[in-house]
Amino acid sequence: MIYLDNASTTRVYDELKQIADKYYFDTYFNPSSPFNLAQNLHNDLNEAKETLAKLLNCKREEIFFTSCATESNNAIIYGAVNNNKGNIITTTSEHASVYNCFVDLKNKGQQVDFCPIDPKTGEVDYDEFIKLLNDKTKFVSIMLVNNETGAVNNIKRLVQLTREIAPKAKFHTDAVQAFTKIPIDVKDLDVDFLSFSGHKFHSPKGCGGMYIKSSCHIPPIIHGGGQEKGQRSGTENIPGIMCMAKAAEITNSNMEKNHQLYVELADYLIKEFTNNTNCIINRFNNYVPSILNIAFKGIRGEVLVHSLEAKGVYVSTGSACSSSLPKSRAVVDLKLPREYSDGVIRISFGSFNTLEEIKEASKIIIEEVNALYKAQN
Ligand code: PLP
Repeated sequence: MIYLDNASTTRVYDELKQIADKYYFDTYFNPSSPFNLAQNLHNDLNEAKETLAKLLNCKREEIFFTSCATESNNAIIYGAVNNNKGNIITTTSEHASVYNCFVDLKNKGQQVDFCPIDPKTGEVDYDEFIKLLNDKTKFVSIMLVNNETGAVNNIKRLVQLTREIAPKAKFHTDAVQAFTKIPIDVKDLDVDFLSFSGHKFHSPKGCGGMYIKSSCHIPPIIHGGGQEKGQRSGTENIPGIMCMAKAAEITNSNMEKNHQLYVELADYLIKEFTNNTNCIINRFNNYVPSILNIAFKGIRGEVLVHSLEAKGVYVSTGSACSSSLPKSRAVVDLKLPREYSDGVIRISFGSFNTLEEIKEASKIIIEEVNALYKAQN
């Protein structure tokens, strides 16, 4: 098997087995229980927060654990958007866990603006963004790295513009595809909220987190026993949290090494695909090399994905006009020529991938693309 769908989820690090073992089978207590064995777990939780806070350059008290980034995004958006007058802004290319919250809020009567993406840069159209901002704007949510194209938005600039033109607005960034891949400093970015997810960096599924600036109190969306200082009730997923903190530490410390690996793997594929197929490589000036988005001419992305699956190569699709799958907004935003827009796939790398695997995958992908092209044209 050659697994190239790491933007969806990743294989868990072997190093985490020991941690999972400890917290599932030895110290499996509920930190809310009154006895010391359970209470001691608060020290472990605080250590995990300290680790994540250091990586993001914030205070431990500004980190809150959730079940996933979908929950973090919902908690931040529904928590931060109030009923005062004023618009809220996001982009057309956001992950569904942000985009669909804005659609819901629009249906509930909020004034919502979806900022377009510049197809030349893959980033937010900054001029259009400026036009949407005004002194009544309440909230902005824009992702740091796009999960389908790998394009990196200039969040620092977007926050600066927001502070200048819309001083009342709070700013959230979904950093799921960025955290541990590019350096993040929440102070430097000056964001108010940020979300991340453990299973995108080799930790088990079921654990995510959010940064909430200490001066930006928001009401919780989940009420209950008051865990996480009342911000997110529910018994803490201690094994998940401890694994996530360790995985973040490992992946962050390998950032430079991983970056070089992904550049090497992506460059190899780009060269091979360009020389041997008819394709458009959807890569922009500011990008993370972990995500490679390619549009092959005259084929259907989902058909290719399944024919690759039959050969043991696992990638994702991202079609703009598929009849059987929902349209990918991020791919629609790229405004590709029609003969390419159906044939989009996403290849995404993780720490376990090797050049040998990529050479093998490349051969298989080229064979399948050319066979499908012949069969369909
Ligand atoms: N945001 C982005 C940019 C993502 O890529 C994803 C998952 O693919 C999510 C949010 C949702 O993450 P989770 O699976 O932790 O809910």
